[in-house]
Amino acid sequence: MAEDERKIVLDKSNFSEWYNDVVDVAGLSEKRYPIKGMNVWTPYGWKIMQKVDSIIRRECDATGHDEVHFPLLIPKTEFQKEADHIKGFDAEVYWVTHGGLNELDIPLLLRPTSETAMYPIFSLWVRSHKDLPLKTYQIVNTFRYETKMTRSFIRVREIHFFEAHTCHDSFEEAEKQIREDCSIMDKVGSDLCLPYLLVKRPDWDKFAGAVYTIGVDTLMPSKKTLQLGSIHQYKENFSKPYDIKFEGSDGEFHFAHQTTYGMSERLIGAIVGVHGDDKGVIMPPKIAPFQFVIIPILAKNKSEMVLEEARKLRQEMTEMGFRIKLDERDTRPGSKHYDWEIKGVPIRIEIGPRDIEKGTVVFARRDLSTKSFIERSDLKAQAEKALDEIHSELRKRADDIVDNGVKMVDSLDDGTKLLGSGWDGIIKTNWCGEMDCAQAMEKALDKTFLGFPMKDVDSGEEEKHSGNCMNCGRPTDTVVMLSKSY
Ligand code: ZN
Repeated sequence: MAEDERKIVLDKSNFSEWYNDVVDVAGLSEKRYPIKGMNVWTPYGWKIMQKVDSIIRRECDATGHDEVHFPLLIPKTEFQKEADHIKGFDAEVYWVTHGGLNELDIPLLLRPTSETAMYPIFSLWVRSHKDLPLKTYQIVNTFRYETKMTRSFIRVREIHFFEAHTCHDSFEEAEKQIREDCSIMDKVGSDLCLPYLLVKRPDWDKFAGAVYTIGVDTLMPSKKTLQLGSIHQYKENFSKPYDIKFEGSDGEFHFAHQTTYGMSERLIGAIVGVHGDDKGVIMPPKIAPFQFVIIPILAKNKSEMVLEEARKLRQEMTEMGFRIKLDERDTRPGSKHYDWEIKGVPIRIEIGPRDIEKGTVVFARRDLSTKSFIERSDLKAQAEKALDEIHSELRKRADDIVDNGVKMVDSLDDGTKLLGSGWDGIIKTNWCGEMDCAQAMEKALDKTFLGFPMKDVDSGEEEKHSGNCMNCGRPTDTVVMLSKSY
């Protein structure tokens, strides 16, 4: 299909519409299921999610977490044990009130997150300091009754969810866990070519029941932040109501210190939004379901020979450890080219009679639209090199969005001037800590408090530098970020 015959024109400068269109045409999600916000995982979308999950599993397993799988339904009586948690989730819960024709004595809810499913059982598992640390995770679907407009992967009612839950014998050990969580995020972000900021949420925006929450935020090309994940310090907030206690080496009983770490299918939303372009999505090589698609260029009387060679090539490259798709459909190469471009396969390989004669193939890169001839004898090295280069290119582009998307501003006046000049993104500034000032800043900038940027992962400290509160001018070293968010 020629360019001008395309049914949908993708235009990323109109990000919101582009995002919905690209999810559709790339076949990432089926939105026509008859419940709003509960989408169907398509074969291609699910392959991508499974690749992302495999990276998360790899990192959790490498850090001594064990995978578990708890029931979907939670009794109301367990859900109600931690007061703040109920307050935070009450309005988002789906209830099951009947079993067949009988009304249930104790209504059940679909997990919005699994603290209240897991912790009654953790209280049975954790008895002695020898049982600690307890490090578990699960990858399951969670349910939240969203009332805002839904959007594939970014705001849905049935969520593909990763949640790690840990128990420790002290606050210090729990803090160490949070730093380990940040290092897991670093590996995941790296493989997905996604830069992100670690931002401690203000108290009014922390997870329901947490002592503090660190948000993992990336910046989308729309200049809105997208929370990719969140890491929570619970201290003893849940272990007390759920009676998770252990006998210490001192012979006394202590409540466990707990942490959680959550991520979701939003990672796919970020991959689509950050890396895609007007031709479709672009899959980072480490999670691309197919890293290469082979398109045989079939010439008269030589079709069988070309197909046979293309199959050999697929076999060869599969044995080399690459993920390969051979497109044998009886359609024109141009049409195949278009389909795989939309789906973002990092490299298209063309092979025709002349390439076979010369012992070469053509590599066409999805990110740069460049073509090069590759010697078959040097295929493995060249293929690895090309994937590495695409990985670096995608990361560089994504880094640019974040680097250009955060600006330090001293006063409200400067902030509104900057936004008036056409620039948009995350505003970084100083804040005295007064709620009145926070509200004035949010109103004047038409953004909300994202929170306090972390200095680095290892110290666990917030960034500090001396300045004056953006609103009242009082001296302070507290640094905050404001943004528009999904
Ligand atoms: Zn102030």
